[in-house]
Amino acid sequence: MGANAIGIENDFECANPGGPGGVERIGPDEFLIRPWSEDGDGNYKFRLDVAAVNGSGTTARLRLRIDWEDREYMDCRDYVLIGRGAEWRWVPAAVEGSVVSATADVPPGRWNICMHPTYDFESLAADRRRAREAGFSEEVFGKSFEGRDMVALSAGRTGAPVIFVVSRFHPYETAGTHAISGMIEALAADLAKGGPLTSAFRFVIVPIANPDGVAGGCCKRSRAGGPDLCHEGADSPDPAGRALVGLLARLRPRGYLDLHGWMHRDDDGLAYSDEEARDEFLAEIGGDPLFNKAWKGRCISGGPPRPGDFCRRAHADHGAVAFIMSPSWFGRDVPKVREFGRRVLSAFASVLRRRV
Ligand SMILES: [Zn+2]
Repeated sequence: MGANAIGIENDFECANPGGPGGVERIGPDEFLIRPWSEDGDGNYKFRLDVAAVNGSGTTARLRLRIDWEDREYMDCRDYVLIGRGAEWRWVPAAVEGSVVSATADVPPGRWNICMHPTYDFESLAADRRRAREAGFSEEVFGKSFEGRDMVALSAGRTGAPVIFVVSRFHPYETAGTHAISGMIEALAADLAKGGPLTSAFRFVIVPIANPDGVAGGCCKRSRAGGPDLCHEGADSPDPAGRALVGLLARLRPRGYLDLHGWMHRDDDGLAYSDEEARDEFLAEIGGDPLFNKAWKGRCISGGPPRPGDFCRRAHADHGAVAFIMSPSWFGRDVPKVREFGRRVLSAFASVLRRRV
C-alpha cells in the first residue's frame, strides 16, 4: 500500500471539522485536526466527527494531533473514540495546552473518530424504520431553516395524556438520541404486549430537534449565527423553533423530557420544573446501579424569564412536568446509555401516572 495506508475523511454531512483546512496530513500516518465551533464557545466545543479510512488489508497505525483551540475545558478532552454503530474503542490522549495527541491501531475499513458515539441521520433512519415496524406513527411536523424534515414518532393510546420527548437541541450531545433509541425499543416492546406505558400515555418523540445543527457539524446552535434552539428557539423566528412551538401547542403535553448530554465525568444532569416530581423520579430509580453518578441540576422555574426556553414554556404554558436530563458518557457505552433511556422513560411515566 505504500506509506499512506491510512487517510482521514471529513467531507461528509455531519463532519466536524468539515471541508478543507480542518484536517491536515503532517506525516505518513499522522494528522492535525482542528475541530470547529459555530460560535467559539469552549463549553460546547466537544464535537469531533471525522472518519479514518484504512485502505490496506492489515491494521495500520494512526497518529492524531487535535487542536481544540481552547484551554479551559481540556480536562475532559483526554480521549478519542474510534468505532461505528454500537462498538467503540476508547483511546486515551495526552493533553498539552490546547492540543491532544493519540495513537490508535486502525483495522482495515472505514471507522468514525469522535468524542461521542455517532448518532447521525442514518441512525435516525434506522430508528424510524424500527418504530414504524413496531406500529408507531410518524409525522413531519415542519421544516428546518435549511429545509430538513422535523420528524416526530408517536406511540400509545390516541387521546391519552401526552409525554413529549425530545433531544439533540445541542448537536454534539449524542447521548440524548442514543437514550431515545432505548426508549423506542422499550415502547415497541410495550406496544407489542399492550403494556402499561402505551396503554396509559401517548408518547411523542422528536429524536433530532436541531437537524441543521447536526448536519452542519455544529456544537450548540443551528448554524453559525443561528439560535441556540433549546434556550432561544421558542421565542425566535427560526422555522425549527416555530415548528416545535406549534407541535407543543397542539399536543399540550403533561410531561416534557428533554435529553441532552454533557462532559461531566462524575455527574448526570437533571434540571426540573418542580421539586416534588424530581424527588419522586429519584425515588423511582433509587438503587439502580446504572445511575451511579451524582445528579447535578436545579429547578428551571426560578431566575429571570426566558421566553425562548422550551422547557420553561412546556411547564409555564402547558403545565407539563418538565425535565432536562444530561447523561454523561464517561464509564458508559452505547448499550448502557440506551438502557439509561429505557429506565428514565419508565420512571418518568410513573411520576406522571400519579398526576393524570
Ligand atoms: Zn445540551
